[in-house]
Amino acid sequence: MLTVKAYAAPSATEPLIPTTIERRDVGPKDVLIAIRYAGICHSDIHTVRGDWGPIAYPQVVGHEIVGEVVEIGSEVTKHQVGDRVGVGCMVNSCRECENCRAGMEQYCLNGNTGTYTSVDRDGTITQGGYSTHIVVDEDFVLRVPEAIPYEAAAPLLCAGITTYSPLAHWNAGPGKRVAVVGMGGLGHMAVKIAVSMGTEVTVLSRRLAKKDDGLAFGAKDYFATDDDATFDTLANSFDLIINTVSAPLNLDRYLTLLRLDGTMVNVGAPAQPLPITIFTLFGNRRSFAGSGIGSIAETQEMLDFCAEHGIAPETELISADQINDAYERVLSSDVRYRFVIDTGTL
Ligand code: NAP
Ligand code: ZN
Ligand code: ZN
Repeated sequence: MLTVKAYAAPSATEPLIPTTIERRDVGPKDVLIAIRYAGICHSDIHTVRGDWGPIAYPQVVGHEIVGEVVEIGSEVTKHQVGDRVGVGCMVNSCRECENCRAGMEQYCLNGNTGTYTSVDRDGTITQGGYSTHIVVDEDFVLRVPEAIPYEAAAPLLCAGITTYSPLAHWNAGPGKRVAVVGMGGLGHMAVKIAVSMGTEVTVLSRRLAKKDDGLAFGAKDYFATDDDATFDTLANSFDLIINTVSAPLNLDRYLTLLRLDGTMVNVGAPAQPLPITIFTLFGNRRSFAGSGIGSIAETQEMLDFCAEHGIAPETELISADQINDAYERVLSSDVRYRFVIDTGTL
């Protein structure tokens, strides 16, 4: 066992605090990673605050992890000591079910093993990336291309893949009109990735405060959803809407923005059930869908795509003692556009 420094939530209502946790010994197929940077995803906040249901405390979160391989198990073939690597939202899956065999282990029918709050193969609860080291099965470790700086790579491991996957699956590309709802961590990556895929992108943010940024990321248009006229102006316009909003929205209003055969994909994850008027779906033969992270192969494809197209998230580097302030800033949408923890400060 390796005792390592970490930042943990002691309960749903208290601030995160410095602590130590145990990492398992490096098994034959394991890689020990010295974590350099860890991004703060809104899912980390939903999780520790109990938005999605009760969890066991203390809990270390963080699933946007990058660092360096410092030790490998005897049977590891994919990674070497010194490699720049990343870990995203999952660290294992059953590998036997229909979905795992189809290479979509994020949809493992037995439940993928999440990077945090999941029961690991040794029966312990997985602990995430706000930590100095992590031990992960080599099959769930990604290669970080040299062209992507470490700090910028971290948010790609969740915000990047979670937006890349539905954009790729629903064929974003030339000739398609895509809207991105909410321009936070996921939203700003969705804009950059969709633009690089050759798509015409419109941002739908509550206000126009971040309009200059959205246009700088390559969006063609930027509208405020606090302005009711936006929904008249843009009715029947989009082939694909990626909704990244962390809170409940009036889905019907957004669905009316889809043109014939258009699809709205929710990646935002509010816990509450949200109503949809079925007749809104009849019009224009609209679809409403969800999408969860992406597979390991697709995550590697996304990292290589970002390296090739020079795509990097906008990050604000923080030290460990700023994590609780950063949470408050994420909750008040005062993030431009992803906080990344320098784990050297743990
Ligand atoms: P974030 O940085 O906080 O961005 C969320 C954005 O939503 C905000 O920037 C804001 O955009 C908008 N927003 C927030 N509150 C709102 C409200 N009350 N009404 C309307 N708009 C609001 O969060 P994130 O890290 O990008 O994560 C976004 C969501 O995706 C979270 O729910 C997270 O758990 C989920 N998620 C899902 C997956 C998956 O696999 N599906 C993976 C990762 C994250 P504007 O300021 O532009 O209005
Ligand atoms: Zn995430
Ligand atoms: Zn499976």
